[in-house]
Amino acid sequence: MATYKAPIDDMRFILHDVFDAESVWSSMPGTAEMSQDLADAVLEEAGKVAEGIMFPLNRSGDEEGCQFDDGVVTTPTGFKEAFNALAEGGWTAFSGNPEFGGQGMPKSLAVLFEEMMHSANCSLALYPLLSNGACLAIDAHATEELKQTYLPKIYSGEWSGTMCLTEPHSGTDLGILKTKAEPLADGSYEITGTKIFITGGEHDLTENIIHLVLARLPGAPQGPKGISLFIVPKFLVNEDGSLGERNGAVCGSIEHKMGIKGSATCVMNFDNAKGWLVGEENNGLACMFTMMNYERVSIGLQGLGLGETSYQSAVEYALDRTQGRAATGAQNPDQAADPIIVHGDVRRMLMTMRALNQGGRALAAYLGLQLDIAKFSEDAEARAQAEDRVALLTPVAKAFFTDRGLDTTILGQQVFGGHGYIREWGMEQMVRDVRIAQIYEGTNGIQALDLAGRKVARNKGASMAALIAEIREWLGTEKGKLGDLSEQLEEALVLAETATANLLEQAQEDPNAINALAVEYLDIVGYVLYAWLWARMIAAVDGRDDEFANSKRITAAFYYERLLPKIHSLYAQFKAGSKNIMALAADQF
Ligand SMILES: Cc1cc2nc3c(=O)[nH]c(=O)nc-3n(C[C@H](O)[C@H](O)[C@H](O)COP(=O)(O)OP(=O)(O)OC[C@H]3O[C@@H](n4cnc5c(N)ncnc54)[C@H](O)[C@@H]3O)c2cc1C
Repeated sequence: MATYKAPIDDMRFILHDVFDAESVWSSMPGTAEMSQDLADAVLEEAGKVAEGIMFPLNRSGDEEGCQFDDGVVTTPTGFKEAFNALAEGGWTAFSGNPEFGGQGMPKSLAVLFEEMMHSANCSLALYPLLSNGACLAIDAHATEELKQTYLPKIYSGEWSGTMCLTEPHSGTDLGILKTKAEPLADGSYEITGTKIFITGGEHDLTENIIHLVLARLPGAPQGPKGISLFIVPKFLVNEDGSLGERNGAVCGSIEHKMGIKGSATCVMNFDNAKGWLVGEENNGLACMFTMMNYERVSIGLQGLGLGETSYQSAVEYALDRTQGRAATGAQNPDQAADPIIVHGDVRRMLMTMRALNQGGRALAAYLGLQLDIAKFSEDAEARAQAEDRVALLTPVAKAFFTDRGLDTTILGQQVFGGHGYIREWGMEQMVRDVRIAQIYEGTNGIQALDLAGRKVARNKGASMAALIAEIREWLGTEKGKLGDLSEQLEEALVLAETATANLLEQAQEDPNAINALAVEYLDIVGYVLYAWLWARMIAAVDGRDDEFANSKRITAAFYYERLLPKIHSLYAQFKAGSKNIMALAADQF
């Protein structure tokens, strides 16, 4: 059976020993109340929620799925009670704005909680996580009246939120969406159109659902600059905050899909539905990006979280399943065979999963701290630098965590042999559940394009150079703790610089270069970042000689000798350019 225990020790190590998060929190008024002890207590409780409330419904939720009947969507048995328990414990408002009932937890803690939620039950996790993203966009861009009306009820878990972008003909290219918004005399709007693939568009978990919908006003410019953002509630809200009439936002059907079966993926029909503008007219895409950037990190954590559950389950199985003998002689002479963990190939798989999961968790915490600094620091320069880092690393986190999440869940499945392929053990569910994370919130190809094009080429590599300078500065002071790894990290940084220079060069000469090469570039950046974070973990255990510290050293050494070298083959592919990718005529395929 799949198994999950929140990896609290590793989370604490990363927050406190690697990043000294408390000193960052205490330096900023918005997070000053967070201490190491409080963070530990929150992580402990969050772990109990993930293990005790969410994980027990993971398998049954997958088996049962969501049901649709004439516009009504029923979530799997137990989801409603679990969602209510999350709401009652304040977990649906984890890092929400305290002014409107949020818990105000730092993002550096939230990324760890979100990883746990996805590990335990990513279908159930999606309902509060989408709601949180909707709150962020409302908080950042809506009027005070709209904020007061919607935020407290969403944070309390009485209502939930959605993100309505995609239309049948408009997915990646939102500039061509057709949903219309007509202004009404009372200052509201009438929204008409069809959105597809809407996560949590309809369900039975909350009494109201607040849709954030992208639509076009009459006469709006063509393309992305003619899109506005609207709040469209399922039930209209009376002046006293009570629920009023049913609005014209109705679920037409739900999708039957490969994974995340407990998450309702809905076709939403908006038929003269009443909505309210959020932010400026025609600036809707920029407002929606507040939500999308949050969701991108969160979906990255879906990859990481499922990789962790797959790893833990595979370790348990490898210790228990007996097949064959160790190459060095029987380890279990009383039994017919040894546990499969004695075999080099099984260990290769487990070590790969472990190295990727722990490296990813450290990157998530680093990004969480940058998000905290960007939001709460009083130092304008520190804020600007953190914002730049967040912009650069968000597409990397989304794509690299989820691509590696597929790698790790497949490795976990492989450790189970044939038992990984059948449903009974739950390993195939993780592969199915993680797969969507590479696709939604902008496909991983689009994330790579965002990194290589908007975040690197557009500013001639300045943000990437600043990140590499930060890593070099760290290396300068810590290299004494790293042994051979310091030279290897420096070599990796040089390769990242060379790849960036090569990207800029190719982009100048070849209009197809960025689109064709972006995925390899993102992977290089991802592997180099994990190398830095593994070095930071090694530096953090310097001088320690306990089991935890030694296992970190061994896993880091494994990462450097077995996974980091992938950057060389990636670079060889990358520098070959786009010529042969683009050479065949379309009708030759
Ligand atoms: C289960 C599920 C849940 C979802 N939840 C939501 C939700 O809550 N809200 C919402 O609005 N949407 C949601 N989506 C939609 C999702 O975000 C889109 O499916 C995704 O962004 C891709 O859009 P598309 O499917 O139209 O593919 P397309 O845009 O048609 O892309 C097809 C392929 O072409 C590639 N491609 C497209 N344009 C380019 C380009 N310029 N350069 C290079 N490659 C390109 C893509 O990477 C992809 O490989 C969900 C989808 C699913 C399946």
